[in-house]
Amino acid sequence: MDRPSLVTLKEVSKSYSPGLPPAVSRLSLNLEKGEILALLGPSGSGKTTALRLIAGFEVPDEGMILLNGMPVAGGEIWVPPESREIGMVFQDYALFPHLTLLENAAFGVQIRGKREREQKAMEVLEMVGMGAMAKRYPHELSGGQQQRVALARALARGPIVILLDEPFSDLDADMRTEMRREVERILQDSGMSAILVTHDQEVAFSMAHVVGVLNNGSLEQMDAPEVLYHTPATRFVADFVGEADFLPGEVREGIVTEVGTFHDGSGLPKGTRIEVMIRPDDVDFEPSQDGNGLIAGRKFRGSENRYSLALPSGILLRSSQSSDRVLPPGTRVKVTVRPTHLVVFPV
Ligand code: ADP
Ligand code: MG
Repeated sequence: MDRPSLVTLKEVSKSYSPGLPPAVSRLSLNLEKGEILALLGPSGSGKTTALRLIAGFEVPDEGMILLNGMPVAGGEIWVPPESREIGMVFQDYALFPHLTLLENAAFGVQIRGKREREQKAMEVLEMVGMGAMAKRYPHELSGGQQQRVALARALARGPIVILLDEPFSDLDADMRTEMRREVERILQDSGMSAILVTHDQEVAFSMAHVVGVLNNGSLEQMDAPEVLYHTPATRFVADFVGEADFLPGEVREGIVTEVGTFHDGSGLPKGTRIEVMIRPDDVDFEPSQDGNGLIAGRKFRGSENRYSLALPSGILLRSSQSSDRVLPPGTRVKVTVRPTHLVVFPV
């Protein structure tokens, strides 16, 4: 028999009160050993609820949750959080202010003997680079250090999976990058599998092997980052993951739009009105007296110039250009669009 997934959700739903739409709706997923899974979605999309369901801080209304192939929630079954082999890192870290770092890390370690528990706690504090501060208290720490301790406390339980809620959202930009690398290293060194939830695409893409996109409690698509970016399954994913403009068109002999006709692989019947997803990297232009576009604006972003091009219909397309390509607004241009993958949505 195949080895069971570490974490399995089968059609899990959760509503906080009868009148409200579900916070999580028929969510299904599998986490395999050694994998890092990210759930990505805007605020209110159900990310925290999903983690709390897995950890056992919420009870699902419907569906089933399994850890290592064993049901922990669903139907009559209920395994409380302290009996689930899960380490949770809360968004605000939730360290105990009156306990030292060592005591924080030792909390919830289910080993007999105070000395043995402290030994384990010290081991994980060292793993996260906080061994030297073991006798200090949380208020003496920076945000990044608190996060390390929260991670140590989660690891100390010897979990099969670590859950991280918006792990870097409370850190400033420099610290965020540093901690992202650190958390990645720690997870890798400890061979730990993880589910992280975030509203930040960069975090999800840089850390996770698989990313699930949540919208209003529902999973819209779950795929590798590259697949999500190039072939989003829904308009929501196209919009939320990366930057996209949408150009109206129609299926005829090819997909006809105001910037040209594209080869049609959509399988949609002729006459269907659609929108074509256009990424800024797909759009190029050359100055031309009788061009079809006009430079409406340019934003210098350091590593690139982001142009905004007005088409005859008034639609604006964004175009990513090198950081030293500078042309003034009002310049008439010929716009060419070459999508790496043509993605269309019926309207
Ligand atoms: P996210 O973490 O993606 O921001 P949440 O899981 O926190 O999303 O919330 C999903 C939805 O459930 C939101 O509409 C939110 O207002 C609602 N919600 C979250 N927690 C509670 C709660 N304890 N009681 C009632 N509604 C809640
Ligand atoms: Mg949240």
